[in-house]
Amino acid sequence: MAVVGAGLAGAACARALAEAGHNVTVLDKARGPGGRLATRRVEWFDAQGQAHVCGLDHGTPWFDARSAAMRQFVDAALTAGWLAAWQPRIVGGRSGGAAPVSLHYVAVPTMPTLCQRLLDAPALTRLWQHTVTAIKSAEDGSAGWQVSCAGERLPRVFDAVMLAMPPAQAAVLLRPWRVDWAEQAEATPMSPCWTLLGVSEAPGRPAAWDMALPDSGPLARIVQHRARPGRAMAPADQAHWVAHARVQWSQAHLEHSPAGVQAQLQEALAQVLGQPLRWHHVTVHRWRYALTQPDPARDLPACWWDATQGLGVCGDFLGGYGVEGAWLSGQALAASVLEGVV
Ligand SMILES: Cc1cc2nc3c(=O)[nH]c(=O)nc-3n(C[C@H](O)[C@H](O)[C@H](O)COP(=O)(O)OP(=O)(O)OC[C@H]3O[C@@H](n4cnc5c(N)ncnc54)[C@H](O)[C@@H]3O)c2cc1C
Repeated sequence: MAVVGAGLAGAACARALAEAGHNVTVLDKARGPGGRLATRRVEWFDAQGQAHVCGLDHGTPWFDARSAAMRQFVDAALTAGWLAAWQPRIVGGRSGGAAPVSLHYVAVPTMPTLCQRLLDAPALTRLWQHTVTAIKSAEDGSAGWQVSCAGERLPRVFDAVMLAMPPAQAAVLLRPWRVDWAEQAEATPMSPCWTLLGVSEAPGRPAAWDMALPDSGPLARIVQHRARPGRAMAPADQAHWVAHARVQWSQAHLEHSPAGVQAQLQEALAQVLGQPLRWHHVTVHRWRYALTQPDPARDLPACWWDATQGLGVCGDFLGGYGVEGAWLSGQALAASVLEGVV
C-alpha cells in the first residue's frame, strides 16, 4: 500500500496498516516526515564568528487531546518519551493574564520526531523528496495503482493508495478517480499563516511569558522558545521567537514578498514587546495551508475510503481540527481499510 504524505495523518495511517501486517510505502515531497509538525534548524554566527544552532518549531507550537482516543495515544506517547506536556505561561487574548492554562503537548526533541517514530516500523518503506504528481490505475487492467513522482512512474504497483495531505493538494490527484471527493476537497477552506522565526539578543526588558496572544495588530500568537519541554534552554543572552500572523493578515499578504512581510512582522513583534529586538537571525515562512477553518455546515466523514478502487484520503480537514484531527483521520482511514468498509 502507498501512503502519500508523512504528516501526522499519513504517519498514523501507515503505522496502523503496517502493524496489521501490510507492506506500506510512505512517500513525502519533503526531506523528512512531519508536515506541519515542523521544526526549522536555525544556524547563525555571532560577532566573534562563532556558530550557533537551535531548532524553532515554526508549524504547530503545541496540540491538545480532547477525545478519548487521542488521550489514549498521548498517554502512551508520554510514557514512551515521544511527547512532553507543556503548560505555558500565556498573556493576552482569551487567557486575560499570566495564569497557566490546561496542558498541551509537544513532540520531543523536535516536532517531526513524532511522525518519524510512528514510521519507524519494519514493514514500512520511507521515500523522501518524492513529490507524487499522479496516481493511475494499473494499465494491464489488473487491480492496483501506479504512482508517479515528478513524471516518473515508481517501479511497483500498489494495492491501495492513501492520500494524506491538505485538501487542495489531494484534489489534484483525486480528480481523475473521484471527482466528487476532488470537488469537496477543493471547496474546503484552509487558512494560510505567515510565520516569523528567529533568534535575537535577550530584550532589555525580558518578556515573562511563554506565549502571547495579542488582541490586535498583525500577530495572533507569539511563542518564546525559552523553556520548551525536551529542548535545550535558550542561553540567557538570547531570545528565540516564533510568531504567527493572523489569518486575515496572512490572507491579505499571501503573495507579498517575504522581505516585506518579514519587516512588517518584525515591527509588529517590537510593538507587542514595547521594544525593538536586535536580531542575530530572522526569517519568515509562508504556510499556504496552515489550519482548517471549522465550518459546522460542512459534514465531512473522518476519512474517505473507496474499497472498490482501493483509494483513501485522510488529513486534518477530514478529522476535525489540527493535530488531533489529523491523527483521528489517519486512524479512521486505517480502520476502514482493515475492515474493508466502502
Ligand atoms: C503555523 C501553524 C500553526 C498551527 N497551530 C496549531 C495548533 O495550535 N493546534 C493544532 O492542533 N494544530 C495546529 N496547526 C495545524 C496542525 O499542524 C495540522 O492540522 C496537522 O499537523 C496536519 O497534519 P496532516 O497530516 O493532516 O497534514 P500535513 O502535516 O500538512 O502533512 C501533509 C504531508 O503531505 C506532503 N505532501 C503534500 N503533497 C504531496 C505530494 N503531492 N507528494 C508527496 N507528499 C506530499 C507534505 O509535504 C506533508 O508532509 C498549525 C499549523 C501551522 C502551519
